[in-house]
Amino acid sequence: MVVDLTVLGCSGSYGGADGGACSGYLVREGDTRVWLDCGNGTFGQLQRHLPVQDLTAVVLTHEHPDHVVDMYGLHIMLRYGLHRTGLPVYAPAGLAERLGALVEGDWGDAFSWRVIDDDDEVTVGPLALRFSRTDHPPPTYAVEVTADGSRLIYTSDTGPAWSVEAFPGGADLVLSEATYLHDEKAAPIHLSAKEAGQGARAAGARRLMLTHLWPQLDRQTVVAEGSAAYGEPVLLAEPHRTTTI
Ligand SMILES: [Zn+2]
Ligand SMILES: [Zn+2]
Repeated sequence: MVVDLTVLGCSGSYGGADGGACSGYLVREGDTRVWLDCGNGTFGQLQRHLPVQDLTAVVLTHEHPDHVVDMYGLHIMLRYGLHRTGLPVYAPAGLAERLGALVEGDWGDAFSWRVIDDDDEVTVGPLALRFSRTDHPPPTYAVEVTADGSRLIYTSDTGPAWSVEAFPGGADLVLSEATYLHDEKAAPIHLSAKEAGQGARAAGARRLMLTHLWPQLDRQTVVAEGSAAYGEPVLLAEPHRTTTI
């Protein structure tokens, strides 16, 4: 079996003029399908790749809207469209309640909420997931996905005080946020393309894919900055791009 990563959306923090969705990824191995972050616009994108009833689990890395808001659409479809209950949702403590404020605290039975914490490990079918608290204001967890000897590390959102080296053993693919260009960093809670490249290189990553780019950034400039720091050409996340881990 192979593990595939499909990008559903990769715009950092807000959607782009081209209709680009925010953070969302689909990780698949055989019949196991995990939706990793439900940023705005990603639910529609997801449905181009699988029937919603085939989802195995959802992972929410943190509470920022560009990673969670499409949970509301998923809730409605599961509850009133598909009449499905108990979809596992792995999320930081308190997130079900915070998001629940917009549904009057009533998620029905659509989800089975499960709290994740630093260093937690969970198993979803053949996928082993491990979490690491990043350098980002709300409780935020990077995710390591291991299966069949393949390893994916997704940084979620982080500043430079956290690194993919938190997961020892390297990675076949690091999916790293790269919100800014290094000389134009607007906030310390995110990485530049240069920092993403440096982190992946230090961790011995076999490949690096940059994501969570601010929509107005020039893509080629970001790739050049990231590649120079990484030491090899980096990949760039694009909606619907599927990569074997
Ligand atoms: Zn974000
Ligand atoms: Zn964030």
